[in-house]
Amino acid sequence: MNRNDIIEILSLSGPDSITALYAKANALKISAIGNKVYLRGLIEFSNICCKNCYYCGIRRDNQAVNRYELNDKEILTAVDFAWKNGYGSVVLQSGEQQSAHFTGRITRLLHEIKAYTGNEIGITLSCGEQTAATYKEWFQAGAHRYLLRIETSDKELYYRLHPNDEKHSFDARLSAIRQLRIEGYQVGTGVMIGLPFQTIEHLADDLLFFQSMDIDMAGMGPYLEHSQTPLYQYRHLLPSPKKRLELSLKMVAALRLLMPDINIAATTALQVLHPAGREMAVFAGANIIMPNMTLPEFRPDYLIYEHKPGVSDDAALSKSKLEQNLYCAGITIGYGEWGDSQHFMCV
Ligand code: SAH
Repeated sequence: MNRNDIIEILSLSGPDSITALYAKANALKISAIGNKVYLRGLIEFSNICCKNCYYCGIRRDNQAVNRYELNDKEILTAVDFAWKNGYGSVVLQSGEQQSAHFTGRITRLLHEIKAYTGNEIGITLSCGEQTAATYKEWFQAGAHRYLLRIETSDKELYYRLHPNDEKHSFDARLSAIRQLRIEGYQVGTGVMIGLPFQTIEHLADDLLFFQSMDIDMAGMGPYLEHSQTPLYQYRHLLPSPKKRLELSLKMVAALRLLMPDINIAATTALQVLHPAGREMAVFAGANIIMPNMTLPEFRPDYLIYEHKPGVSDDAALSKSKLEQNLYCAGITIGYGEWGDSQHFMCV
């Protein structure tokens, strides 16, 4: 597929042609990597962040946020739940911190989780930009996948979404993604979809960027406005929620057609726009879901966007709701497996 083909896909408007696109992408997924969906228990272990991204609800300057950091026991309780319930993997996600205290703590936790589960649980990290030495240390301690979204692959758009300073350098973020590959991780990146100032051409270029970076995993979701962020002032420029959902699903389908054997997440943000948004993404080519394992008392404080679903649920309820929905939709779960990216395994 070339750029024009992708633009054409993303511009499809007839319901029949869109349905056919999703079906084609889903069929290609099944023939390339099978029809199972893998679960990653998501543990949002800290919302402390040194970044000031214009779109994000937990940005440094949002004083309304109650900052927290889970202690080791709380994190291990969440891991235990994921492990005992047959989730093959967990994702440890947080705001960005680079102190030696923070990075050392993650290293220690990784060793602890691996020892506790007898290396049965796979660990994905999503803790932002770090030095090469930190990425190496975490990999050696047992993390084997890493998610670091580029947010947009267009440098100009990037700087409309982030302050233009050293802490938010587009080039540094790009280098960090490249470094993760060097350290041996399965590398995941992604973008937000339906941002103010974003065009179909930007999104087509995002997909080509993923291909050129030869990524193993992708997590893309709709942009959702947050009233306590600077980007909120541009909300009149946003596509309708319905359009953002449709565009997100088309992005999933187009990426599946472009990269048949990678892991693609059906992200939680989709669920904000439609209760079955994640299931719809699975039928458009996604194969990963990240149910929330964060303890209920911390969930209201990890609102990267507003109206996040399941804020008052606990892990057991998030799990039973999701599994019930997947079951009803006829989706098979890969219990107890890491569900690694076959793209990575085939290299
Ligand atoms: N600090 C980590 C994790 C950040 S939160 C990192 O830098 O990778 C994970 C993702 O949430 C971000 O990468 C971003 O794409 C997404 N996100 C943040 N604010 C959002 C919003 N308002 N709408 C939709 N997605 C958002």
